[in-house]
Amino acid sequence: MAAQIIDGKKIAEDIRREVKEATARLRNERGIVPGLAFILVGDNPASQSYVRMKGKACEEVGFYSVTERMPAETPEGDLLRTVEGFNKDARIHGILVQLPLPKQIDEHKVLEAIMPGKDVDGFHPINVGRLVIGEECLRPCTPAGIQELLMRSGNDPSGKHVVVVGRSNIVGKPAANILLQKQLGANAVVTIAHTGAKDLSVFTRQADILIAAMGKAEIINGSMLKEGVVVIDVGSNRIDDPAAKNGYRFVGDVHFESASKVASAITPVPGGVGPMTIAMLLKNTFQASLNSLS
Ligand code: NAP
Repeated sequence: MAAQIIDGKKIAEDIRREVKEATARLRNERGIVPGLAFILVGDNPASQSYVRMKGKACEEVGFYSVTERMPAETPEGDLLRTVEGFNKDARIHGILVQLPLPKQIDEHKVLEAIMPGKDVDGFHPINVGRLVIGEECLRPCTPAGIQELLMRSGNDPSGKHVVVVGRSNIVGKPAANILLQKQLGANAVVTIAHTGAKDLSVFTRQADILIAAMGKAEIINGSMLKEGVVVIDVGSNRIDDPAAKNGYRFVGDVHFESASKVASAITPVPGGVGPMTIAMLLKNTFQASLNSLS
């Protein structure tokens, strides 16, 4: 039977619509407008484009948003003062410092300067710690989006063996930590694999749900998977393709064609995990604005 395609674009649109409706209610009933501040240091074209996309998404759901653009040579102290300004600004409920930062700036120091309650990326050690011990917190957007993809496509991870390939702090580790909690939408038995695995297929073949977050084009194929597996492919890898209009296209970490013959459900690349990240950023900012009321 053909694998179910988990449509991240549609699920992300649903979440954005829900946030928009909830934002209108919050504004009408409590007079609060969720506010998100972006800080962009330097002129990296990819970062500029991400911030533009996120700003547009804020506008569409009715948020207040502001972008602080700072030159590439900005000293660390100036950036920390800018973060502090937004920490104190009552119109701002979420602060996002676009990464990567120029090399004179210590990324950890900056992320830790953001008030945990405004840390809508979920990277502050306080939020990371709360996530690990199963307390309410702002959770990193991409892994939180993976949980939404699973639940909204009817693939509840509870009781399933989830194998996460990749242990980065932004995807692999938080995805594992979210899904192993004794909570609704989680309660999975989780294995994390990484480059230390001598034979990756030993682990991938055990997965009821496979989360691939390596950044390595199509290295997991159908022969490495169990019949009926649910595949969430986080990878986004640009490969040359002379037949494509631009001469390249994006593929995941999983070989879609062979994997979709074995899987019961699979996310496409693009159009799977990708659109979820901004949707979850909006959801986190909305949550942060609600939290500010209590
Ligand atoms: P990362 O920081 O480079 O981490 C990659 C992880 O994969 C590392 O833990 C690495 O292991 C592991 N790995 C790499 N090659 C492997 C192999 N051959 N076998 C087993 N493990 C291997 O990457 P990331 O930031 O987590 O991102 C992963 C992918 O997700 C990238 O393609 C990125 O573009 C994509 N991504 C997409 C979204 C989105 O769609 N919204 C968001 C974030 C990331 P070691 O720790 O041992 O080095």
